[in-house]
Amino acid sequence: MQFCPICDNALFIKRKGKAKVLQCPSCGNKIPFNEEHKRFYTISTVIEHGPKDMTHIAEETTGPAVTEDDRELLDEDEFEYQED
Ligand SMILES: [Zn+2]
Repeated sequence: MQFCPICDNALFIKRKGKAKVLQCPSCGNKIPFNEEHKRFYTISTVIEHGPKDMTHIAEETTGPAVTEDDRELLDEDEFEYQED
């Protein structure tokens, strides 16, 4: 999502013939829609409307998988520490 440099409102994509522009619904400011904006808007659309993609992103950010054995070891360490 891009924001209006004048009034900070969210800009919406407006089709203008073959070209697209980003237009501010508040003050009417228009800026040319370029490839950089396209990437921006594509990413936000995927996150908001693609549950499968969200799951994929979540899986990527959880890091290395912890097995049940690992969890038991971690719990044991913690218990021993508390006993000391
Ligand atoms: Zn504006």
